[in-house]
Amino acid sequence: MAGVTLDTVRKVYAGNVEAVKGVSLGIEDGSFCVLVGPSGCGKSTLLRMIAGLETISGGEVKISDRVVNEIEPAERDIAMVFQNYALYPHMSVYDNMAYGLKNRKTPKAEIEKRVNEAARILAIEPYLTRKPRQLSGGQRQRVAMGRAIVRKPQVFLFDEPLSNLDAKLRVQMRVEIKRLQRALGVTSIYVTHDQVEAMTLSDKLVVMSGGQIEQVGTPSEVYRRP
Ligand code: ADP
Ligand code: ADP
Repeated sequence: MAGVTLDTVRKVYAGNVEAVKGVSLGIEDGSFCVLVGPSGCGKSTLLRMIAGLETISGGEVKISDRVVNEIEPAERDIAMVFQNYALYPHMSVYDNMAYGLKNRKTPKAEIEKRVNEAARILAIEPYLTRKPRQLSGGQRQRVAMGRAIVRKPQVFLFDEPLSNLDAKLRVQMRVEIKRLQRALGVTSIYVTHDQVEAMTLSDKLVVMSGGQIEQVGTPSEVYRRP
């Protein structure tokens, strides 16, 4: 089980900026949860706390019943995909995807197997020897997802992964992300300010505003008009 549980989670930044004001939420194992809301409402901060990239000012984040802060960073089975891809420009696509596994001392044959498998799933096999700058935006985003997949994480975190892509590609990648998540069955938490993305991707939709949850439900429950 790799569900994610948030219990009255708070974040106060230096200067008394209260970015997250006591958020409680349960995300079921294998489900797709989308956090949606306007810029500045605390989505990224919440995601980074779940990732363990940001200290928690109050409350608790648990991943399959383990408190996030108490899990050693090397043991955290969490992979994050960012808006700006965060690829290493001097490394090939293959090395970008293999990097995290090499750091974890995964055997070379296993690394090759996983990278090739991910490349096949994401249709980026022809580009394994290229550098990120020789790829289109959509291809770069696939590489960033490949790097996440090869780790076989328990939880996927996405921070506005499609917002740098053009409209057509955004729609295509949205479909691919959903298909991938279903196929892998990985618990996924996805941050966006795009309502259409939120509706089409989510099992559970969480609408945030001013550091708090405003509404939670299935897309049809949240967007049902009275
Ligand atoms: P969102 O992802 O919804 O755009 P953020 O989580 O990035 O929202 O930001 C929530 C609030 O916290 C904003 O008011 C933002 O300015 C503030 N904030 C974010 N990061 C920091 C930081 N490192 N230091 C201080 N304030 C921050
Ligand atoms: P996003 O809205 O996509 O989260 P931002 O441009 O708000 O992106 O934030 C980019 C980076 O700047 C984040 O790492 C965030 O922590 C930091 N940041 C955002 N707001 C502030 C702030 N008021 N003070 C300091 N750092 C901030």
